[in-house]
Amino acid sequence: MNDERDGHTLDPEDWGAFRSQSHRMLDDMLDYLEQLRTRPVWQPIPAERRTGFREPLPQQPTELNELHQRFMQEVLPYAVGNAHPGFMGWVHGGGTPVGMLAEMLAAGLNANLGGRDQMPIEVEKQVLHWVRELFGFPESASGLFVTGASLANFIALLVARTAALGETVRVDGLAEHRLVAYTSAGAHGCITQAMELAGIGSAALRLIPLNDQFQMDIAALEQAIANDRAAGSTPFFIAATSGTVDVGAIDDLDAIADLARRERLWLHIDGALGALGMLSPDIAPRLAGIERADSIAFDFHKWGQAPYDAGFILVRDGELHRRTFASPAAYLRRETRGIAAHSPWPCDFGPDLSRGFRALKVWFTLKTYGAAQLGEMISGTCALARYLAERVAATPELELLAPVALNVVCFRYRFPDSADSNRLNAELAVRLQEGGRVAPSTTTLHGTLAIRAAIVNHRTNRTDIDALIDSSLTCAAAMMRA
Ligand SMILES: *Cc1c(COP(=O)(O)O)cnc(C)c1O
Repeated sequence: MNDERDGHTLDPEDWGAFRSQSHRMLDDMLDYLEQLRTRPVWQPIPAERRTGFREPLPQQPTELNELHQRFMQEVLPYAVGNAHPGFMGWVHGGGTPVGMLAEMLAAGLNANLGGRDQMPIEVEKQVLHWVRELFGFPESASGLFVTGASLANFIALLVARTAALGETVRVDGLAEHRLVAYTSAGAHGCITQAMELAGIGSAALRLIPLNDQFQMDIAALEQAIANDRAAGSTPFFIAATSGTVDVGAIDDLDAIADLARRERLWLHIDGALGALGMLSPDIAPRLAGIERADSIAFDFHKWGQAPYDAGFILVRDGELHRRTFASPAAYLRRETRGIAAHSPWPCDFGPDLSRGFRALKVWFTLKTYGAAQLGEMISGTCALARYLAERVAATPELELLAPVALNVVCFRYRFPDSADSNRLNAELAVRLQEGGRVAPSTTTLHGTLAIRAAIVNHRTNRTDIDALIDSSLTCAAAMMRA
């Protein structure tokens, strides 16, 4: 080892060689993204790959080049495939090459955005500024990046709990209070989990039935609130959904906002999937009412196409938000000058102290493409979903299982053995995934198993939709011959 190198540094000894190796790694990822279409969406991990990857804690160094090759051969081919245009499962964004580069810059800087006086926090505040503008929230609204909408929904619930019981809830807990919250039967499971984590308990969450458009039934919501008040409980929180995970339904946000105002309840919107529809002039009007929410949770890693992870929480009452989380600590003392200046800090608005520079990839994404182009891309995914729904409706072997409000299409194959339809459609979805051309997932609607295609990826086009229809028909035919 070179004597002039400092102590135990982990930096390269030969920066020139490291630079060449870095460029090879970058080129490999650019090749991967450029050639996505030539690859399978997903392929099963061979058993020997899985077991062969296991090894004891490495004691000795390994050449970076060798590890790069291992990544290319053992890891990269066996990812979930959400970058691929044929991926339609769950609700996964595709990412962009721009987002990848921004992640590299952020990692190089290794900024910790918990707090302190630094420009990376100004980048996050700039994104917050854009988010306020997008949702018509006031300057006093607060917000920050979190892992995903699951955590963002949880944070919103905690702020609403402070609104209902005051800051003392942080010290005293719920005591004798019987808080009750409301969401629809179509809500994401993370709302239930948030109730559990907040100590309120999921038994105090009312799952309001859906109407035939898979939206929260407003009359049933009103009745549930009245029943709970009559029983001596304290209704405090409504979580409406803009884009349910099952079918992409948008709750009637304006009607729910009216009700929330009348009843003096906190209105939160789980916009994980759909809130960024505000970027699209044709979808934004259908989200009317979102600007009246007390808080909104959403994900830049879904429709926003930022690389994972990039959830966001926006809270109208920034001071209440801060009072829900801020804690004095000697080692986090604030100053008016020096590195510890410019308080409050992001760590005052959530449970995370150390935080990465998620804001940078979103700043790059919004600046590189611009809101208009991102909006068109979002609209485009909805147009593809409508095209898929039309193709399903025009194909006698297939049946549409839910109205298509946004970018999610649920359908099934009409197998002649209808008693076994759920099992056969689940098998069909697995075979499509294993086929490697298109990858939908499944859900269950009114007891019926649905093949579910969520068109989130900006790379997906009509040929992929056609491939989903064609592969479904050929796979189902093969199953019936077998
Ligand atoms: C994806 C999703 C979530 C969860 O978001 P994460 O980012 O995965 O934590 C919550 N609600 C809805 C409606 C979603 O689509």
